[in-house]
Amino acid sequence: MVFNKLLKEYKKIWALGVAKSSIYYDLTIFSPKESIKDKGEALGILSTLKKQILTSKTFLDLFEKAKKQANSDFEKGVIRVLERELDYYLKIPEDFMVDYNKLISKSSNKWLEAKKKSNFKIFKPYLEQIIEYSKKLANFLNSDKEPYDVLLDLFDEGMNMKKLDSIFAIKKELKHLLDKVLENEWPEESRLKDLNYDKAKLRLLIVALLRSLGFDFNRGRIDYYEHPFTSNITNNDVRITFNNKNKDFADVLTSVIHEFGHAIYDLQIDEKLAKTPVSSQENMSIHESQSRFWENIIGRSKEFMSFLLPLIKEFLNIDTDEDELFYYFNLVKPSLIRTKADELTYNFHIFIRYEIEKAIFKEEVSVKELPELWNDLYEKYLGIKPNNDKEGILQDVHWSEALFGYFPSYTLGNLLSAQIMFKIKDFNNLLSEKNFAAIRLWLKENIHKHGNIYPPEVLIKKALGEDLNPDYFIKYLKTKYLKV
Ligand code: MG
Repeated sequence: MVFNKLLKEYKKIWALGVAKSSIYYDLTIFSPKESIKDKGEALGILSTLKKQILTSKTFLDLFEKAKKQANSDFEKGVIRVLERELDYYLKIPEDFMVDYNKLISKSSNKWLEAKKKSNFKIFKPYLEQIIEYSKKLANFLNSDKEPYDVLLDLFDEGMNMKKLDSIFAIKKELKHLLDKVLENEWPEESRLKDLNYDKAKLRLLIVALLRSLGFDFNRGRIDYYEHPFTSNITNNDVRITFNNKNKDFADVLTSVIHEFGHAIYDLQIDEKLAKTPVSSQENMSIHESQSRFWENIIGRSKEFMSFLLPLIKEFLNIDTDEDELFYYFNLVKPSLIRTKADELTYNFHIFIRYEIEKAIFKEEVSVKELPELWNDLYEKYLGIKPNNDKEGILQDVHWSEALFGYFPSYTLGNLLSAQIMFKIKDFNNLLSEKNFAAIRLWLKENIHKHGNIYPPEVLIKKALGEDLNPDYFIKYLKTKYLKV
């Protein structure tokens, strides 16, 4: 009874969320320039309303009563998720939050300016402030823990430096493997990267591809936008964006498949969970494991090329074969830009950011010294050095938005994606048969349908029968890059 009342009250918060994400998507993709400021203001007001409902006496009373009665996995999940959210709203003072948000919006602008001018000095004073604010925020949430551990937990419930250090110890083996693959002269370049083709046809190819993978256009859409992202508006309206400015069609297609992986997660959550606090997966590494699974494990596999080839020929009028496509989708070359990195080098970009973030919060490095530390670590892990701040420390938006502790989830997602592949029975056969429906079903039954009922570690154990184990990722890479 009390649980139903709590869920009924929560629906107001859900509805505000739908309004917020609809406005946000509209603002980002469709809005005339002059309307952006007004919509930003509207979003701010909706956030205040959300806080008012969530921290109202009515809601808190219901929550406390329901907490005592929570029994099923679903009910316990609801309480766990709400408790985390309430923690955030109740522990962080309102005026701090207002100043913090103002600082973030200022520093994002300064970061963009600094990146355009490739000058870290422009961003430096803002980054210093952002770090101070992030430390304070961590302190409000839990002053007993190290600030960086608190921040890691915000993006990945239960994560901390101790666990990450042990998981990221695979970097030694990864480095060894990377060196070996480079020694074997695995292709670094492909002529397909610079071919001309009809961009409008690529858009049609993307739609055909999404349909084949199982994207339901009655429950979602795709739009053009500078940066690819997925927006979960409701469990029946999940949107993705793509960018085909670039000639490099492998880059365009893999990023579409990546966003499809995020979208299919949201679309396959049990409909019984819709409009409740557990209706979406909020843990970044788990969500990212799904996008990486579709992008890399499926989308860059040899089997997938036999599926793609006819589409490439038909829509883009490009003459190629499966082998050439496979190498083109899997070029290996240490490079400076994280978002352009291949499977073998990608995680080093994350190890570098993780090492730097740890040093920042342990106060082992000053902001002034960061560009040099950045460049030294690139030299150490990838043997290359940025020539300027734009292709170095200023490349990612995250720090300007105070997203410290976010980067590790990308690598955790990669590791998990390989582990999932080994867990799916007959995966290679399913892939050879292009039986995407069976793969989707496995993901739904074992991962997606649960929404956010379980914390990441519990969900992983439930779905995979063991804890996160990075060995699978190494095994996957070895099979792919050393034996093909
Ligand atoms: Mg992603």
